[in-house]
Amino acid sequence: MQDLINNTPTRIPRPEHNFSRQNMSQAALHVLYQLHKAGYQAFLVGGGVRDVLLGRAPKDFDVVTNALPEQVKGLFRNCRLIGRRFVLAHVRLNKEIVEVATFRAHHNKGGGGVMEEGRIVRDNVYGSSVLEDVWRRDLTINALYYDISDFSLLDYANGIADLYAGIIRLIGEPKLRYQEDPVRMLRTVRFAAKLGFTIAPQTAEPIPDLCGLLANIPPARLFEEVLKLFLSGHAVQSFMQLRHYHLFKQLFPYTDACLDEPIALALIERVVHDTDERIGNNKPVTSGFLLAALLWPPLSRLLPDKPVKNFNQQEVLLEAAQHILLKQQEHVAIPRRIAVLMQEIWLLQLRLTRQRRGKKKNFSLLKHPRFRAGYDFLILRANAGEDQVINEVDWWTSFLNSNESSCEDLLSQRSVLNKKRKHQRKYKKVKTEEELGN
Ligand code: ATP
Ligand code: MG
Repeated sequence: MQDLINNTPTRIPRPEHNFSRQNMSQAALHVLYQLHKAGYQAFLVGGGVRDVLLGRAPKDFDVVTNALPEQVKGLFRNCRLIGRRFVLAHVRLNKEIVEVATFRAHHNKGGGGVMEEGRIVRDNVYGSSVLEDVWRRDLTINALYYDISDFSLLDYANGIADLYAGIIRLIGEPKLRYQEDPVRMLRTVRFAAKLGFTIAPQTAEPIPDLCGLLANIPPARLFEEVLKLFLSGHAVQSFMQLRHYHLFKQLFPYTDACLDEPIALALIERVVHDTDERIGNNKPVTSGFLLAALLWPPLSRLLPDKPVKNFNQQEVLLEAAQHILLKQQEHVAIPRRIAVLMQEIWLLQLRLTRQRRGKKKNFSLLKHPRFRAGYDFLILRANAGEDQVINEVDWWTSFLNSNESSCEDLLSQRSVLNKKRKHQRKYKKVKTEEELGN
């Protein structure tokens, strides 16, 4: 077994590294000091250390200690113990939450973890030292510990060398580490995408063979990972890497099956690009919009190609939407409120393109709480190459920018257009699965 962990860490004293307390949140610093003052060991670990060393702003600060969760709770007024897989202490200071974890033992040391087919399902046995804790870290660059007792950095797994060489490397034997927790495959890809690092060949190699193990992970946990992959400013890279390692198919199988269609692929490439751009410009992004786009290609496949008598278009769309959402939930659980937003965006596609509208209806659509999302979605479709919606995008764009007289002109154009379409209004029921070849 390839063992990357050194029993004696490289200790980098404060003068030899550039990790400064000034780059740390006041809340995290306070937690570290309080633990130390109470006689416990306390370290900052994970993204907080990694990102500061790279000159980036960390997303959050994670603390590890030899204090047990109850002991941590005893030290802080605003502390809550939480835990699904592990018991963790959340210390709230001002508006910030600092996550404090107790060292954990390696799952097969001292009868530690509960395993199922090589997967760790519980590992709540506490370890006594930071050396044991290294085993529960995924990547070498995520296993750097900042020691509050002397401000030094502890490196057990050559993380510093990998950090400065830009390498994503799993600690230990990659196949076993992925089997213990298949989400590590997504984390490997996520950090490569986020940092622009190269995945070490041994770390990359098992992923395409093992990606099916993600089927054993609760869909709710995968939803959290999907948000981190796609809503952190590196969605373009995440999408490329996920596809490259066959992981995208595990998360969104119905979308993946559509990616041989150029328009479907262009739509996803656009939405991930636009999401990154908005985050880069500090504009808000919503998971509902992104997911509505991710599932639009398989949803469109369910819709009939030609209008058919006696079926209401809206009902057909809703039926198809509910079908695709239900199927998708088996892989990635989408919370209800987000699914509702997705359906609203999809339904607006009909209202923005097909409905016959008088003046009043056009104006009332502008007041729809999701109008902007629906309109942006229509633009996205046009940009991806859905030529049939280009005229509608132009019309709505002119309408939104119109003054009183040009607005009247646009409305009269619309009523001519709608008369032409009147006969097309009835749509066939949703396609059956056999028709789709699924
Ligand atoms: P970021 O917060 O920027 O997403 P991070 O590295 O801090 O990155 P977290 O999810 O906050 O990631 O986790 C904190 C640390 O816990 C990680 O750096 C890693 O050491 C460890 N960790 C988290 N999840 C896993 C996992 N599934 N397997 C092994 N170690 C993990
Ligand atoms: Mg973190």
